[in-house]
Amino acid sequence: MEGHNPMKSGIRKTGISNLGIGNSVNNRRDFDVAIVDDDDLMLSQVSLILETLGIENSHLIESGEELLLAIDSGSKFDLLIVDLNMPGIDGVEVIRGLAARNYAGALALFSGEDYRVLKTAECLAQAYELNVLGTLSKPVTPDQMGELLSKYDPADSRYTRPLVKPVRGDVLQEAVQKDRITPYFQPKLDRNKKIASAEVLARWQDNNQLFIPPIAFIPVAEDTGIIQELTLSVFKQSVAHFSRWLAMGYKFKLAVNISTENLKELTFPDQLEEIASKYHVSCDQIILELTESRLMENLVKGLDVLSRLRLKGFALSIDDFGTGYSSMEHLNRIPFNELKIDRAFVHDVHQDPAASAILESSTSLAKKLRMVTVAEGVETPEDWRSVVNVGCDLIQGFYRAKPMAPEQFESWLVTNSKVA
Ligand SMILES: [Mg+2]
Repeated sequence: MEGHNPMKSGIRKTGISNLGIGNSVNNRRDFDVAIVDDDDLMLSQVSLILETLGIENSHLIESGEELLLAIDSGSKFDLLIVDLNMPGIDGVEVIRGLAARNYAGALALFSGEDYRVLKTAECLAQAYELNVLGTLSKPVTPDQMGELLSKYDPADSRYTRPLVKPVRGDVLQEAVQKDRITPYFQPKLDRNKKIASAEVLARWQDNNQLFIPPIAFIPVAEDTGIIQELTLSVFKQSVAHFSRWLAMGYKFKLAVNISTENLKELTFPDQLEEIASKYHVSCDQIILELTESRLMENLVKGLDVLSRLRLKGFALSIDDFGTGYSSMEHLNRIPFNELKIDRAFVHDVHQDPAASAILESSTSLAKKLRMVTVAEGVETPEDWRSVVNVGCDLIQGFYRAKPMAPEQFESWLVTNSKVA
């Protein structure tokens, strides 16, 4: 008679007084955490740990079905702690269900499974653009939980900002025509913290000064063909700034992102060359980062364009290495000069043996192919140490320098770089 056992039906709330230790999480009275696990013992253990950390009133939920039902009937959670292994729908199906419901809070995954299974599920949740705080391996300890909660930032919650909706093609077209999508610059540094190049990141501020995230407009640009005009607009604006910095005496290269969609246009290399020469910048001062967000549909055309870009002197960089399409195969075919290792194999790599193996082997592969290696997503001193230890040439990430508006980047140059 399950219904008679309060431990066995529906969602329960724990209710022990707040032992708050005073961080941003603990002081939020309305902070709603749900723990989802089929194992009663785990539910009570995890809720007890949360209580010792000052979070009372966790919702205890015994299955993925119940969780999704609760969300469907209007429950809003700030943080979900979800077990991957559950009978009925499992953790991966829960992730999919949360994504389908535009779940806006934070998510943590836990499991007794192999660490790599947890990591894969975490990547999946990130791919669905859920706000993933991290993973916990069983048995969960208060230390583990404390570290996880310290990553919680209410500003990341999508309850506080509109959901990411793809922009309309005509709106995007107009923004591109008016050069409203502008370049930000993020330094790539060598191990002595000297700038080697700066990557251009497209930023779009709407009329209310809110940033429209690239995920809301890059895929639209790629689907509609606007990507051609967008790439050229951002390229032109960045080269204009870059030529000013070269004239001031700074020595570094400019790195601009291009899409595989750009390679459909045979005149693309000529268009870039024309813009560069208009600003008196030589092509060999420019790196083009190719993100393999989609398959190269027409390989012959793609290789034609890439070869001509190289012949004109542009350097080619393979972006997000390890996550794109057939990266290995392309390494063999395309004369890349630089390999950028995706943040998935960089950030927190010191506590992730599988990611660490990929970081190491990508770095040594690139060295054998005489390519410059760049580690993306270096956010902590540990990340910096890890990538320097495996011998990455260049380092990019928030730890040393974030993407900056042109004026900001120029002041950064003044403080952090010497003129030659
Ligand atoms: Mg890039």
